[in-house]
Amino acid sequence: MATEQETRPTEVTMEEIVALCKRRGFVFPSSEIYGGLGSTYDYGHYGVLLKNNVKAEWWRAMLQERDDIVALDSAILQHPRVWEASGHLEGFTDPLVQCLGKCKKRWREDHLREAVEAEGGDPDAELRCPQCGGELSEPRQFNLMFETHVGPVADEGSTVYLRPETAQGIFINFKNVLSFARKKPPFGIAQVGKSFRNEITPGNFIFRTREFEQMEMEYFVPPAEAQKWHQHWMAERERWYTELGIRPDHLRVRAHGEDELSHYSSATSDIEYLFPIGWSELEGIADRGDFDLTQHAKFSGEKLEYFDQQTKERYVPHVIEPAAGADRATLAFLVDSYEVEEVEGRQRTVLRLHPRLAPVKVAVLPLVSKDGLPEKAREIFQDLRRRLPTEFDEGGSIGKRYRRQDEIGTPWGITVDHQTMDDDTVTLRDRDSLEQVRVPIEGLGDELVGRLEAPWRTPKLD
Ligand code: ATP
Repeated sequence: MATEQETRPTEVTMEEIVALCKRRGFVFPSSEIYGGLGSTYDYGHYGVLLKNNVKAEWWRAMLQERDDIVALDSAILQHPRVWEASGHLEGFTDPLVQCLGKCKKRWREDHLREAVEAEGGDPDAELRCPQCGGELSEPRQFNLMFETHVGPVADEGSTVYLRPETAQGIFINFKNVLSFARKKPPFGIAQVGKSFRNEITPGNFIFRTREFEQMEMEYFVPPAEAQKWHQHWMAERERWYTELGIRPDHLRVRAHGEDELSHYSSATSDIEYLFPIGWSELEGIADRGDFDLTQHAKFSGEKLEYFDQQTKERYVPHVIEPAAGADRATLAFLVDSYEVEEVEGRQRTVLRLHPRLAPVKVAVLPLVSKDGLPEKAREIFQDLRRRLPTEFDEGGSIGKRYRRQDEIGTPWGITVDHQTMDDDTVTLRDRDSLEQVRVPIEGLGDELVGRLEAPWRTPKLD
């Protein structure tokens, strides 16, 4: 659960991030020509590339860098019994209160209580509408699942739900995966995909929306090893964010109190990030025990357990779940990399993204659009694009083009000038150090791929 009300100033405001995203076409409000649909967003070109890179890095950490996890892509629509078994039909609720005063706004009561507590107040005595100060209704539990119908007749038997998490698709496939993956606990099943929640108070840009993408992995372990693996995954997931450039002092781990735990969890720790709205959940790492497999075994009549051939032991594995949001992670990477600085008397906005996350890795820029420079630059571009996401840009002054690339976080710029025509060298500009070096065209691809694969540390720490 997020503590959105607990604020602490950061260098960048949410408004600045929203403005950059709109200006450069990363993310913009959905259905805008119809006046928008509250808190839904569309991703434009650079936003798609950035979020794809975030997801690719997650897959890399789950699949390529280890050999104990397999991938899955399950359906969004599932049998309605899934949500009965999982407890979502009954328990996936948030406490809703409505202002009885002037504004009639709806709020999440738990968030309001946290805000009062953060100020040192007593939520039992002081809970009022934050907008108009009005009295609040008694809380009622509001189910967050979106309901829809399959087939042409909308009756009770046709009700299905848009999945509110990707995890259940993994549990119901436990047996399938076990039969083909040749894995034994500890092993994991990873999935990335859309989830839907009818949030009472969506907002803060793509931090909380009603339709979002999750990156979830269910790690099945022998029961006695659950605690050890919980610790392991907390450390691993924190490392993932910092290796991709998030400053360690903008991350913290917070263990859930007893009263906060979800119905399925015996222990959960959140990795929180210092968003412009304050410390808020970025990812939850839960010990789900044997709750899900036991429930689905009970409701489906299938045995969901593991039989160890060697020890002849039969058991229901426990589950450790790192559950991250692709959109929330993308927002965190945007916030953490954003910087405005003065360069030679002019302001520049730069996204100091990890090169692997950057939507475009290299921009090829002819200094002028004459004397054969654009053609030469295009040749270089054609060559580089086979190996790296590359952009060709010949419009506007060179300074303006650098600014544009800085704003989308492109780590390297190649400038083709008159000297290039004589000696087949170009200028290679570094986004962060602003260093410009003369390098031969030959071997440029190898040089850039080498830089992309080298360990990287955010210059914000220097
Ligand atoms: P919160 O307390 O913020 O509502 P949660 O604890 O309900 O989150 P989980 O069920 O643990 O969230 O989901 C795992 C991750 O999915 C979250 O850490 C977050 O990154 C992402 N996520 C959850 N709900 C949303 C949402 N409405 N919009 C965007 N991302 C979300």
